[in-house]
Amino acid sequence: MKKGILCFAGLLIYIRVFCWGFYMHEQINYHAVFLLPPQMMILYKQNIGFLTEHAVDPDKRRYVAASEGAHHFMDIDHYGISPFRDLPRSYKAAVDKFSADTLQAYGIVPWWIQTMLNRLTKAFREKDCRLILKYSAEIGHYIADAHVPLHACSNHNGQFTNQLGIHAFWESRIPELFAAKEWDFFIGKAVYIPDPGAFIWARLLESAAAADTVLRCEREANAHIRTDQKYAFEERKGMLVRQYSTAYARLYNEKLNDMVERRMRQSIFAVASFWYTAWVNAGQPSLDRLAHDSLTLAEQHEYKILNLEWKKGKVIGWDCDQ
Ligand SMILES: [Zn+2]
Repeated sequence: MKKGILCFAGLLIYIRVFCWGFYMHEQINYHAVFLLPPQMMILYKQNIGFLTEHAVDPDKRRYVAASEGAHHFMDIDHYGISPFRDLPRSYKAAVDKFSADTLQAYGIVPWWIQTMLNRLTKAFREKDCRLILKYSAEIGHYIADAHVPLHACSNHNGQFTNQLGIHAFWESRIPELFAAKEWDFFIGKAVYIPDPGAFIWARLLESAAAADTVLRCEREANAHIRTDQKYAFEERKGMLVRQYSTAYARLYNEKLNDMVERRMRQSIFAVASFWYTAWVNAGQPSLDRLAHDSLTLAEQHEYKILNLEWKKGKVIGWDCDQ
């Protein structure tokens, strides 16, 4: 019997890495709703299920569209050293200097968030309820990704430093273990962001600056744990899965000095503040009477395709796991 269990465990069932993990993207959008003013809460709270569920659509879309991957990250170290002054903050100036293909190859998350903000603002102006909710859910995803240090670093899964797996360790395993029971998401209120471009660039540069710490702390934690204590087999959805052990995750989290919790709180605050900023810039339209109609047939079809492609499991373009 014992031998049978070991054989089963030895299959090393593989779990694909997702940006911030599906669970955490959902949690970030969910908690952001509660930072909104009542005039917005009336629509957002009514649709909190949609905003939560569709927080992960951009990751699912990476299975359908090759161009989608670049929206989730920026390997900013490709452009020199901090504070990366050689990289223009304006997309047009950056294209002129480096070409659109180069920008696409190394990721465009700070620009894509501004595109999404414009789309969301337009949706508010037009009082298009379906688009307000769709773009709100999706911009929440990209903003959260920009807060992840390894989304701003070419060594995004520790592939250059023999730390493969660190991406999901930081953004999925640690929050899944500790967020619900130990972390605090009382964050205050959304604020108006006068210069969203400057805001998101500042966050991305913080992420880039923290990437070294993310990698160094894992090396330190690794040096302080016995190999046989580093991993554990845990049941997940009825299967035995090899994971970083809880003890190792706690050790890493302590060395990070609660960085993951801090970045998650900042993500929630930024998501709510971008939603709020779009609404203010659209002239604070009344949302009282907007109700989320059922999805159109075309939208139902699009979501069905997204889910099917995602279940097939082949990412087109950039993958956190590579
Ligand atoms: Zn992502």
